[in-house]
Amino acid sequence: MICSLCRRPLGAKVEAHHLIPKTFGGRETVALHPICHRKIHTTLTDRELQRGYATIEALRAHREIARFICWVETKDADFYAPTFDSKARRKR
Ligand SMILES: [Zn+2]
Ligand SMILES: [Zn+2]
Repeated sequence: MICSLCRRPLGAKVEAHHLIPKTFGGRETVALHPICHRKIHTTLTDRELQRGYATIEALRAHREIARFICWVETKDADFYAPTFDSKARRKR
């Protein structure tokens, strides 16, 4: 299996991301690396996800996420930067 966002093989930990946030009735999920999942939620709010980023293509085209993908591509599948966590924890 590969991560839908960065397209690298998934590591030991896999997280499910709702393309349309659960709060908006979304059911379809995609498998992501924890770090990729965190990036989505630190960059976009549920409302923004529902309005304009409910597809992987839209997410990958987002400026900041595109930049993140370029950066994370060089990392190992289980790589996780603790600094990514601080903001995300409250937002989930
Ligand atoms: Zn990924
Ligand atoms: Zn998610």
